[in-house]
Amino acid sequence: MQIKCNVLDRQFQMYQQEYEEAALRVLRSGWYILGNEVKQFEEEFAAYTGRKYCVGLNSGLDALIMSVRALGIGEGDEVIVQANTYIATVLGITENGATPVFVEPDEYFNLDAERIEAAITDKTKAIMVVHLYGQASNMNRIVEIANQYHLPIIEDCAQSHGACFDGKMTGTFGVSGCFSFYPTKNLGAFGDAGAIVTDDKEFADRIRMMRNYGSRIKYVNEIEGINSRLDEMQAALLRVKLTHMQELNDERKVLGERYTKGIHNDKLIKPEIREQADSVFHQYVIRCSEREKLQKYLEEQGIQTQIHYPIPPHLAECYQQMGYKVGDYPITEQYANEVLSLPLYTGMTLEEQDYVIEKLNEF
Ligand SMILES: *Cc1c(COP(=O)(O)O)cnc(C)c1O
Repeated sequence: MQIKCNVLDRQFQMYQQEYEEAALRVLRSGWYILGNEVKQFEEEFAAYTGRKYCVGLNSGLDALIMSVRALGIGEGDEVIVQANTYIATVLGITENGATPVFVEPDEYFNLDAERIEAAITDKTKAIMVVHLYGQASNMNRIVEIANQYHLPIIEDCAQSHGACFDGKMTGTFGVSGCFSFYPTKNLGAFGDAGAIVTDDKEFADRIRMMRNYGSRIKYVNEIEGINSRLDEMQAALLRVKLTHMQELNDERKVLGERYTKGIHNDKLIKPEIREQADSVFHQYVIRCSEREKLQKYLEEQGIQTQIHYPIPPHLAECYQQMGYKVGDYPITEQYANEVLSLPLYTGMTLEEQDYVIEKLNEF
């Protein structure tokens, strides 16, 4: 059997007719940028998350960059961020000239709240939280610390559409919830797309201006903006998928729980879910001290796996000038050496998953 990490066309086939109708509606409308589809999607996604405002953007990275910028954070400022994240999270900070201050993760792969205070200095301007692999971070504690030090929270929700902490959705704890709709994400578009959600009207207005060359009225440029517009086609397709979000996430949860129930091998450490949190299983990430051997063995059995992420940002070539070295963030580095993401996607059959489980247990 051949098992891929992701089979995106299965998701398309599930609701094919609805997608095709939405795409044709846009093609025939004669209006392709910032029109009714974007407006409708923004309303629907704001309602889905329970926030007042949503602004559609070009990508998740843009959502992060623009959130940091709209808070006035730049040169000389520090932003606290977990060390074991995708490079985009950190780029959201460094693109603005600000300095990331890395904090080690907890046993759930998320920002370790108990290590935040030690990282706060008089230059700290925000806390960036990533709900990694689909599981909500320890938001009670993080919000408490942020309030105590009067620091805004920016949430990177690129992997956590629909995930909750204590019943409250990720993206609703901070000033800004940043989403990516990259095709492999839980709410994936058919191209690049992203958004921010917020309850702060001024913040939303600023992001809205920024995404369209800094203008509210055509050719009246109030701030130095960029072009980061969600397009009508992606918005229309996302509207279709959003109506199925519950069932899509439920399917991932079933697959995630089946892995947890089915995998029994002392060589493998399964992911755990914090009591108050839930996970929408963007990834199912196991740990193994013989990771390279395991990955090669699975490949020989026809099973594709991925590593999220092999090189932590502090050791990335692009951040050499920051002067970090191996050993600076041992937990993060251990995760980077041990994590392996198993195949998990909507449309995956139980037979396919049973095959993966069988081979894992035989390792
Ligand atoms: C995918 C991702 C991003 C970036 O999203 P893009 O839409 O690809 O720019 C940011 N942070 C995390 C954690 C991600 O997984």
